[in-house]
Amino acid sequence: MQPPGTLHVVATPIGNLGDLSPRALEVLRSVDAICAEDTRHTRQLLAHFGVERPLVALHEHNEDRQAAQLVERLLGGASLALVSDAGTPLVSDPGYRLVRAAREAGLRVSPVPGPCAAIAALSVAGLASDRFVFEGFLPARTSARRERLAALVTETRTVMLYEASHRIAQTLDDLVTVFGPDRPVVLGRELTKLFETVLDGSLATVRAAVLADPNQRRGEFVVIVQGAPEDADARIAEGRRLYARLGEYLKPSQAAKVAAELSGAPRKALYGGTGEN
Ligand code: SAM
Repeated sequence: MQPPGTLHVVATPIGNLGDLSPRALEVLRSVDAICAEDTRHTRQLLAHFGVERPLVALHEHNEDRQAAQLVERLLGGASLALVSDAGTPLVSDPGYRLVRAAREAGLRVSPVPGPCAAIAALSVAGLASDRFVFEGFLPARTSARRERLAALVTETRTVMLYEASHRIAQTLDDLVTVFGPDRPVVLGRELTKLFETVLDGSLATVRAAVLADPNQRRGEFVVIVQGAPEDADARIAEGRRLYARLGEYLKPSQAAKVAAELSGAPRKALYGGTGEN
């Protein structure tokens, strides 16, 4: 009987094809089949490198069903590679159900590390990189997005988000509203590609730059926001205390403005959630 095969989890370029590692290429050439999020997209990548291997579609709609069959193939001795459209599989991409199923079956799952947009952006952001949180894509609905951001207002670690061109302006608006205009941010756009741009500044200045130039809203984005100061919780507590007290004398919007100024807390945080400005 054949020994079980290995599932290789292979990172592919996020733009520049020169970023496919020699080992990734060797593994892709050697496996019995390649599981790909979008087989047409991966076929183009493989054609560029002269690799001809059978492809199996593995995306969010069929992953549960496919995972069981792929584990059977691995148990039968086949070796497989898992790739996504770009970057590292499983990072805001399909694959974790297959990896979990393979691990539960006692199979070897081996990484072939390489490009990842979040890590590429972090590596050039110049923001604290010793502790960071990856939040992936924000929810599509405005209220859910703001709620997610409100929960991050006092996060002291660097916060990383993914965003697509059609929503980047909205996300920057929401970030200014919830985190306040002054929080430092770095926007990595089209990394490793022809129009690679890295903008940095306060949320307000980066938002203004993006709104002023339609080209700055094209392509793919990583948004990296500096974490809150260590005393953010204390500032917000003080801001809320002031807001409540001032609310006895001023209109809510005025009370919030003054309380935010005096405490250094973002105005949004004073309402304790996702209320109006
Ligand atoms: N698995 C991928 C990785 O390792 O980065 C991420 C896949 S996710 C579906 C796609 C998102 O990643 C894009 O919407 C964008 O936010 C980010 N992204 C991918 N390539 C990028 C690039 N070249 N520059 C900036 N962001 C990129």
